Amino acid sequence: MFIAQIITLYPDMFPGPLGQSLAGRALREERWRCDAIQLRDFATDRHRSVDDTPAGGGAGMVLRADVLARAVDHAAAMAPGLPVLALTPRGAPLTQDRVRQLAAGPGVTLLCGRFEGFDERLFEGRAVEPVSIGDYVLSGGEMGALVLLDACVRLLPGVMGAASSGDDESFEQGLLEYPHYTRPFEWEGRTIPEVLRSGDHARIAAWRKSMAETDTRLRRPDLWERHEGARVQPPSGAR
Ligand code: SAM
Repeated sequence: MFIAQIITLYPDMFPGPLGQSLAGRALREERWRCDAIQLRDFATDRHRSVDDTPAGGGAGMVLRADVLARAVDHAAAMAPGLPVLALTPRGAPLTQDRVRQLAAGPGVTLLCGRFEGFDERLFEGRAVEPVSIGDYVLSGGEMGALVLLDACVRLLPGVMGAASSGDDESFEQGLLEYPHYTRPFEWEGRTIPEVLRSGDHARIAAWRKSMAETDTRLRRPDLWERHEGARVQPPSGAR
């Protein structure tokens, strides 16, 4: 079973929306577990403080490394060997490759930040991987944790129907997926592309490939550049 441990000041936010739909069914089928851990339980003073003012001055509060480390150590004792990821806009962007790696493993421990974020020494004192879910700032790491877990859980064996788990999905081949259409055939004067009604599977596959390439080039030049770069590189050791 995939174990998700979430260290947070708001444990009631879990499983939240992941209790519904595919992820919710998978939770009930015990394909994964969702253990929310209250960070405040690892404070040692009578006010149960988890944060303090930023060294050097400035606005906001910073989550304390000692409190966070005690929570991380507790989580590791509960479920040894899980990778620990901290949600932070300062982290490396989460990718489908990283999600696949995580989903293939035993689970994940997620640290949700609040306020100004984490005391940086946490990343030196413990093996914690900083990860971002995008170039924007949320008010807390909980939404990011839900995003990351949703991406992992849908890849667990038996969670998705075979129909939607294909290699064509966005990012699997370094491209966006091709566009989809369904009935009605005509909607507000727009029709479904003729090729999709041809029954010619080779033509359909060629059209989908070309659309995936065009849309990636237009909408995500960064992905396209990486994809093209990988395509023209000779395999290592080929020279
Ligand atoms: N001061 C931080 C900065 O500028 O990088 C932002 C802190 S943010 C208000 C509070 C918390 O929300 C962060 O510690 C992190 O856990 C979470 N968070 C915000 N944006 C995020 C993102 N793009 N990816 C992952 N977590 C994010």
